[in-house]
Amino acid sequence: MNTKDFIQLEEQYGAHNYYPLDVVIERAEGVWVYDVDGKRYLDCLSAYSAVNQGHVHPKILAALTEQAQKVTLTSRAFRNDQLPLLYKELSELTGYEMSLPMNSGAEAVETAIKLARKWAYRVKGVPRYEAEMIVAAGNFHGRTVSIISFTTEPLYRDDFGPFTPGFRIVKYGDAKAIEEAITPNTAAVMLEPIQGEAGVIVPPEGYLKRVASICRENNVLFIADEIQTGLGRTGKLFASHHEGVRPDMVIVGKALSGGFYPVSAVLADRSTLGLFTPGEHGSTFGGNPLAAAVARAALKVLVDEDLAGNAEQLGAYFMEQLSEIPSPHVKEVRGKGLLIGVELKPEARGARRFCEALQARGILAKETHEHVIRFAPPLVIDKETIDWALPRIRETLFMA
Ligand SMILES: *Cc1c(COP(=O)(O)O)cnc(C)c1O
Repeated sequence: MNTKDFIQLEEQYGAHNYYPLDVVIERAEGVWVYDVDGKRYLDCLSAYSAVNQGHVHPKILAALTEQAQKVTLTSRAFRNDQLPLLYKELSELTGYEMSLPMNSGAEAVETAIKLARKWAYRVKGVPRYEAEMIVAAGNFHGRTVSIISFTTEPLYRDDFGPFTPGFRIVKYGDAKAIEEAITPNTAAVMLEPIQGEAGVIVPPEGYLKRVASICRENNVLFIADEIQTGLGRTGKLFASHHEGVRPDMVIVGKALSGGFYPVSAVLADRSTLGLFTPGEHGSTFGGNPLAAAVARAALKVLVDEDLAGNAEQLGAYFMEQLSEIPSPHVKEVRGKGLLIGVELKPEARGARRFCEALQARGILAKETHEHVIRFAPPLVIDKETIDWALPRIRETLFMA
């Protein structure tokens, strides 16, 4: 079977809810992926930042295979010997007293929403079922019905109502808009520190700090969705740390497993996460021993290899080099650490064709929205590899 055969099968038997590049990946290692024809590509997407540690990291692989031979799933009806250690290590690494493990990012976001509502009723004293959450235009928090109820992207939403009430949408990057939207019933403000899916939108400096203090003054929880920006991607453990902000809740996923397994979590202190009582919330696979063992190894790799430090250093270099390409198509280069967006001018006729041209040159990147190419390679990348990619990117950005 060759590339064409695989694509044909996928198109025939699979739902068409994605528009992938026509590359059929067979194996991967570090920053490189290989297709079924043996061609090598530099991965500049990292599965939307799930493989920050690099593909098939040997230490995470070892943890996975070792644990898979012992016990994989107990359900939370029983305890296992991995989850307590994950709890402890997550707490020591992030400074939050507790965590609650789920699987996908969207499930962790749902968990944070439920927790914020519960906190509003039980602690803040909001009248039952009147709790509101403030979110930002352009947000991406996942695909469940509740979450798409407050997306501003018509494609994610239009055919899927009726929607979950209780959300107010304000402009991203504007702290005053949040202040004005707060009512006595506001439970929480939930934001991405940088909006990845919206096209790597970096808010004005001081925004997160200002929002955090507005929340504090108004007895409102500040929730950071760090599923994409967290765990080293932007050059710090969490992107909120760039402004010295400590959100009341942090949502992590993606790189929490280094790409081996769906693992997500909500991190918070006892004053909020301690509110859940047995039976109120759960997940059959959430916190299973295989997931916990994988997450423990994935976190250890992040720390041991100082991947945040590498992202900070090489991200600055990569972004500077990209900014210096005098391409007629480029409107702006922006980002933080190794989360970089190259926004093209509307006349460039879309980012997709540039991603296809990059693919032909051995680089896999994905357009986000119409006009932005995202460059987010695994954080294990080195300068040599960036220097390999730069002339190829330059060439692509100069095409007609
Ligand atoms: C990917 C992502 C999610 C959703 O995670 P899934 O695992 O796809 O459900 C939520 N928020 C942000 C910021 C993300 O990037």
